[in-house]
Amino acid sequence: MNTKALFAALFMMLSSGVAYSQQSQLVTDKFYSAPSGVVFSTPSFLHPEGGHATYAQVMEWIESRAKDSRVDLSFIGKSTNGYDIPLLKVSDPSMGKPSKKVKVFLQGVLHGNEPAGTEGILATLDYLLKDTEGQKILSSVDVYMIPMANIDGYMADTRASADKYDLNRDQSKLTDRVSIILKKAFMEIDPDVALDLHEFNPFKADFKEVGGAIYYDALFLPTGHPNVDKGIRDAVIDYIRKPAEEAFDKVGYTHYTYFTPAKTDGKLTLVCGARSPQSSSTSWSLSNAISILVEIRGIGMGRQCFERRTNTAFILSKAVLQKAASNPSEIKKIVARANKNTIKAKAPVAALFHSNIYPGKATFLDLEKAQTVEADVLIKDALDYTMDIQRARPKAYAIDASETKAIENLRTLGLEVEILKESKTFSTESYTVTEDVVADKVWEKINTRTVSVDVVKGSRTFDKGTAIVWMNQQNANIAVSVLEPEAENGFVTFRVVEARKGQTLPICRIVK
Ligand SMILES: [Zn+2]
Repeated sequence: MNTKALFAALFMMLSSGVAYSQQSQLVTDKFYSAPSGVVFSTPSFLHPEGGHATYAQVMEWIESRAKDSRVDLSFIGKSTNGYDIPLLKVSDPSMGKPSKKVKVFLQGVLHGNEPAGTEGILATLDYLLKDTEGQKILSSVDVYMIPMANIDGYMADTRASADKYDLNRDQSKLTDRVSIILKKAFMEIDPDVALDLHEFNPFKADFKEVGGAIYYDALFLPTGHPNVDKGIRDAVIDYIRKPAEEAFDKVGYTHYTYFTPAKTDGKLTLVCGARSPQSSSTSWSLSNAISILVEIRGIGMGRQCFERRTNTAFILSKAVLQKAASNPSEIKKIVARANKNTIKAKAPVAALFHSNIYPGKATFLDLEKAQTVEADVLIKDALDYTMDIQRARPKAYAIDASETKAIENLRTLGLEVEILKESKTFSTESYTVTEDVVADKVWEKINTRTVSVDVVKGSRTFDKGTAIVWMNQQNANIAVSVLEPEAENGFVTFRVVEARKGQTLPICRIVK
């Protein structure tokens, strides 16, 4: 680094109060110009002293908007450090029939160091209240906003929660109390359309060979989980991704499918898309909400490009709301059909599957040369998978009464759980554990477990107190996806339910 660059770096550190971003002003000017003619008056832009607005500043701002009769401010619970978590419902009762309105849910800052989502959501609130175009949306849409999902992380400017969990790896095991609060709120709202706004770190050592950084403004993370209703999966593309991409194209913002880097025989591999009920995109889609997670280019950048990052979140939210407002009955129909299909479903369910790999291309950014790099990569695509273990859909699952955390989680995930009032006999398929491998590495404070099982047909008499989850309910797809023992983010893998080689699992399939 030459002296000039060193001074520039030092100046940035001092002026922004955050770690030095690896992106030069030249790169920023060339590829990531601030939106012209857009002035944000959301909390962090009213407090430009560096970093982002505090909880108190955000709440003061929200309360000023909550004076509007169209805004209903409530609190869904307290964070671990004692902050009340706000939920805003934006609705205009003077327009449209409530039952015909599409419920759109927007969530920001589930990872505490990704603040653009919060600002973008609050900019969307002002758009709905003050802009004539935005006000019209409320004739067919009710908007629910949790602009600060992980307040403790947000205040500490760290990804994790106060209890040091990654809240977007915790949506099936539900270990963190904040995850439980958020999941309960989500299930109670029962949105038709849901957006989870994140930011990604474009500067990773894995990208050194292609210039050092990811180029795109936004990365879409649609779910490829095979147990998600097909109509929901298609609607994610038609009612979220496509309209958002069109809106980005209009302003010259670039986009791609979300990926994490990996290597396949030494070749850069982009692990694309979502497949894990541990994270919002798949978890929400398994509950029959048309939902997606979108990542904005921003982690590690402090206030750099903050207008553009906020604008990316705002344009995305606006595009999704406009699309919902133009197609309320279609969206209502898709969700109703998905619920009905789930209740009546007969098709086999996926217990284990893996993403296929094929060659592809992606654009990266050479930070030194300030040039884009077109790279040949391998794509490992969650939306293109091979089934490894498929089973007939059971009539129900029985869970031993002693598995209290599993039963509590199922309820939090929106499932109705029947507790047997007297012992009862069913035709069953029990799982006998044939392999039991516990990971050496600690991940999210657990050593995950991988099992193989034999499915043993028979008949069992279950004691009074046994929990039964019938599959003829609208959230059944999430039950399947956490209860099948081999499932990647299921209860056995995440040690919600313990399993040992040779043992019969306390989860059992009821087939008749
Ligand atoms: Zn994130």
